[in-house]
Amino acid sequence: MKRQFDPNDFLTKTAREIPPSGIRKFFDLAAEMEDAISLGVGEPDFVTPWHIRQAGIESLKKGHTYYTSNWGLFELRQEISRYMERKRGVHYDPADEILVTVGGSEALDLAIRALISPGDEVLIPEPCFVCYKPCVTLCGGVPVTIETKMEDQFKLTPELLRKSITPKTKLLVLTYPNNPTGAVMTKGDLERIIPIIEEHNLMVISDEIYGELTYSGEHTSITQFENMRDRTILINGFSKTYAMTGWRLGFTCAHRDIVSVMTKIHQFAIMSSPTTSQYSAIEALKNGDEDVAYMKKEYNYRRRYLVDALNKIGLDCFEPFGAFYVFPSIRSTKMTSVDFCEQLLMREKVAVIPGTAFGECGEGHIRISYAYSLDQLKAALERIEKFINNLSKNGDRG
Ligand code: PMP
Repeated sequence: MKRQFDPNDFLTKTAREIPPSGIRKFFDLAAEMEDAISLGVGEPDFVTPWHIRQAGIESLKKGHTYYTSNWGLFELRQEISRYMERKRGVHYDPADEILVTVGGSEALDLAIRALISPGDEVLIPEPCFVCYKPCVTLCGGVPVTIETKMEDQFKLTPELLRKSITPKTKLLVLTYPNNPTGAVMTKGDLERIIPIIEEHNLMVISDEIYGELTYSGEHTSITQFENMRDRTILINGFSKTYAMTGWRLGFTCAHRDIVSVMTKIHQFAIMSSPTTSQYSAIEALKNGDEDVAYMKKEYNYRRRYLVDALNKIGLDCFEPFGAFYVFPSIRSTKMTSVDFCEQLLMREKVAVIPGTAFGECGEGHIRISYAYSLDQLKAALERIEKFINNLSKNGDRG
């Protein structure tokens, strides 16, 4: 007898059981509502600067419509190498220590696929960006959560790190400046965890996609420390820094033995990153500093406004020093993060993301992106204030 066809019989249990990202849900709901304000998605509201777009257009005019080298255009890798020297003082050989990828996202996936075998434990400080855990799980690895705390400004402390290491620990993922908390790790903070990383012979993935968006001094990269350059896979990209999310371009820098294996996977899965985007990225790195400074100034202005306004309406807000998110506590409302976000969307038509979308320890928080215009932020804040005041009036609030 023929068996009934069910596509689910063919999907792997691991892939089927991975929960979808909790970020999109609220954004999609808001998109269907008239007059809703969404502060949900983590992408710059700025359009890519014109000269960067123009470089892409020029490349098309010249007929650059072919695959590039698997590694990415050599000229782009040279620019990335110069950028790393100029900004961080760390040298990566453009010939074989830099790979151009489809966003930082692909670089993260490649790094995890290159390193993780079934059973390997990967330390992931939370709250954090949503892709690390599923990527580890898909490789058969074991994601091990480290819960960072608001009292520690959501930094990874030596105590928390030490407690989570077992003989199976292979890799630590660091994301500073952090999405969703906006936390940064200073030179001193990194100095305190590095001896533990070395003692236990761990590898590090350092996702520094928000490295240019810091509001209290220059970003320190873990690659800048002696002995850490070769132990670290640096992830970066153009999405956040240059407002280029749709161009899908990122890069990774690491020891040549690691980059060559990542390139092999990239070669079979992707072939080469988008050609037009690569030409634009060359222009971004060569001539984009002023644009970045301008956008950063705007973000900083909005950041200060939001932190202030949220604290005034009674949502305790830790001051974020990087990225473009604030992560206020909503504990004073006694609501869960998901309830808060659902009610806020239904009653006042403002979409923000529940902290739990970034890990269980995000409970009691919401993520608000300030990659939106000041007018939108002000309008949203008025609605949030009304929502909070109504909670108090109705006695919903503890
Ligand atoms: N890392 C972090 C921390 C992020 O927030 C994001 C995007 N939200 C990415 C990586 C991926 O960005 P992209 O693929 O656009 O470079």
